[in-house]
Amino acid sequence: MKVLIIGSGGREHVLAWKISRNPEVKEIYCAPGNGGIAQIAQCVDIGVMDFEKQVAFAKEKQIDLTIVAMDDPLVGGAVDAFEAAGLKAFGPRANAAILEGSKAFSKDLMKKYKIPTAGYENFDDPKEALQYLETAKFPIVLKADGLALGKGVLICQNLQEARAGVKTIMEDKQFGSAGNRLVIEEFMTGREVSVLSFVDGKTVKTMTSAQDHKRAMDGDQGLNTGGMGTFSPSPFYTKEVDDFCQKYIYQATVDAMAAEGRPFVGIIFFGLMLTEEGPKVLEYNARFGDPEAQVVLPRMKNDMIEVVEACMEGRLDQIDLQFEDNAAVCVVLASDGYPVKYEKGFPIHGLENFTDKDGCYVFHAGTKATPEGIVTNGGRVLGVTAKGADLKQARANAYEAVKWIDFENKYCRSDIGKAIDEV
Ligand code: ATP
Repeated sequence: MKVLIIGSGGREHVLAWKISRNPEVKEIYCAPGNGGIAQIAQCVDIGVMDFEKQVAFAKEKQIDLTIVAMDDPLVGGAVDAFEAAGLKAFGPRANAAILEGSKAFSKDLMKKYKIPTAGYENFDDPKEALQYLETAKFPIVLKADGLALGKGVLICQNLQEARAGVKTIMEDKQFGSAGNRLVIEEFMTGREVSVLSFVDGKTVKTMTSAQDHKRAMDGDQGLNTGGMGTFSPSPFYTKEVDDFCQKYIYQATVDAMAAEGRPFVGIIFFGLMLTEEGPKVLEYNARFGDPEAQVVLPRMKNDMIEVVEACMEGRLDQIDLQFEDNAAVCVVLASDGYPVKYEKGFPIHGLENFTDKDGCYVFHAGTKATPEGIVTNGGRVLGVTAKGADLKQARANAYEAVKWIDFENKYCRSDIGKAIDEV
């Protein structure tokens, strides 16, 4: 079997690694991939939005299955392009990926189908948004409707900040056309938990829970990032919370999409806030979360290809999804200065210490293979994941493994998983 993965980050690396464990898989390609993925797959220099070239490549190489792992190509219709050419591709079609591609759409869907989420209003006109804010309660949350690399969400403490936010998103168009519409949302408090799930259009099967650390610095200080580390499972995601979410959030979302004529086949990432009133949806993503995938997939017992094929053939109900009874922690190694300004091109030392055998893994996010070896090539450089019998052990193992890696300007948070101590 030949598999093509579309994407280039840590998520795609862990996916390639998981897929490579299936003995039927003889060749893995990744477009465009990165320095780490290149060690287990053949990286192809085709952009993630260049569907025409991707399809031509898949035909030429007789690829059996393409997995579209990133938001932009999914929302842009990559899966539709493959299907139109008679090729198999895993991920939601554009009409279902809108669940992530438009926050206004997803909020309206949740309202219509009574799925718990924060109260909100959508606006196309900045004047109306400003008027609404005059009598609003603060803090309040402003969200650009479309994809904005995780940066289109502003939490505003007062009217002045909110006015500036409307200008940034809707008038200055800092996030481009993503800011043509604006969602103004009630501010919620509580713990955030991420739950990934496989979906086949009608059945949803959730994976083990995880918790992300979005801020750049210790103590949840500094700017929002793509994610500085994760742990799995979340001790706050109890059986009671799961029961509630299975009934009122997960299945309800999948049913709602089907009822709207937008059956969802692929991965739904449920971003949840555990509020005093119960769990509520913060956001949906239409793909694996990153770095969540780096702690969830190493614990998954099932073969990835088997589950993906079951999703695509509408028989996910026959799959018994199983996870190891342990824990995993991922610490992201970034370039100092991320997410604002940082240098790249520094050689990375110590990658050879990771051999898969001791439950420690290194997944590459921003790296590049050069004739001199692997060098840093992005803000988030590597994800170091370690498993352990429990969360504390996994965290100790992960921070030990972090020491095995060295590169100039290496930076990581020292408190990933600190919430575990509160349990
Ligand atoms: P990403 O795709 O990178 O996760 P995003 O741009 O889709 O980000 P959201 O996940 O909707 O944005 O929001 C980003 C963060 O902002 C959330 O993880 C949460 O911490 C905070 N946030 C979003 N909505 C609310 C809310 N209603 N109340 C409180 N905090 C919120």
